[in-house]
Amino acid sequence: MQDLHDISHGELLAALEELGQPKFRAKQIEEWLWEKGATSFDEMSNLPKTLRAALAERFSLGGMEQLARQESEDGSRKYLLKLADGAAIECVGMPTGARLAVCASTQAGCGMGCAFCATGAAGLTRSLTASEIYGQVMHVRDDFGSRVTSVVLMGQGEPFANYDATLGALRRLNSPDGLGIGARHLTVSTCGIIPQILRFAKEPEQFTLAVSLHSAVQRTRNLLMPGVKRWSLLNLYEAMGTYVDLTGRRPTYEYALIRGINDTDEELASLVDFCRGTLAHVNIIQLNEVPGSKFQPSSEARAGEFVRRLGQVGVEATVRVSRGADIDAACGQLRQRMERKRG
Ligand code: SF4
Repeated sequence: MQDLHDISHGELLAALEELGQPKFRAKQIEEWLWEKGATSFDEMSNLPKTLRAALAERFSLGGMEQLARQESEDGSRKYLLKLADGAAIECVGMPTGARLAVCASTQAGCGMGCAFCATGAAGLTRSLTASEIYGQVMHVRDDFGSRVTSVVLMGQGEPFANYDATLGALRRLNSPDGLGIGARHLTVSTCGIIPQILRFAKEPEQFTLAVSLHSAVQRTRNLLMPGVKRWSLLNLYEAMGTYVDLTGRRPTYEYALIRGINDTDEELASLVDFCRGTLAHVNIIQLNEVPGSKFQPSSEARAGEFVRRLGQVGVEATVRVSRGADIDAACGQLRQRMERKRG
């Protein structure tokens, strides 16, 4: 049965016409879907009972079942959600004062195979629909009972390997008929799929772009991020130049510092060269300590040194503290823990 979230406005109007219903019902139904987050047709109290029954015969409401929720000492909450077909995904809500940021997934699993990532190790299950991406944000909003002020698509999956659904979700999140979140507060984080970066640069909305860089040395980056090794760092440098020329917006490079791998003096010098004279902002990420992982975080002093050296050549950089360090907040960890428990 088709999920009502996945049909277009035009298809909804056609379905209503077939059912002999007036057009204004579409607006009412869309409010239930995208603003109120109805999980059953019975909740749609301003629709006639007969219409609710007719819709229930034709459509499902998708829906996500919460399999697990962890709350961190810093207030962030991580969710493991089960989709209608049983696929499991993760998302995180991170409150700061009156703000609530959500990190959502665009795929169940991921095919990019980043060496430091638990999700990458497990492979891709499938891409999500736009409404499944959007639904995670609604789930977090309803759990916190407060407005979501920003969303970053940095959970499981590579958003640009699922481009159309990603853009569909961003547009709905941005729309006044959806959650009405400003485009600049909606961020896509990619490993660096060049053709899609160039396509994204031409989209009319002012969405924000973050690129996982993690090394400006080709052989290190190939090792850490094999999924994008077909595009060289030079390709990436040029594409990001085009992105800035076309949009005038400041992109972010994500750089997770890994002790002994990408935090050496040679790596720092290459990063400084890669960023010098560009508009990019660099986020130095301090990894969470993952038991048994061969990748360990660098020291705080080393992170500070990266920021200082980038600053010396006029590149803005900040150290981002991982939220939820006590709740398995690196992608894939919660799901793996649940699977270990079940096994
Ligand atoms: S870090 Fe992101 S892109 Fe890389 S494997 Fe993990 S989920 Fe995929």
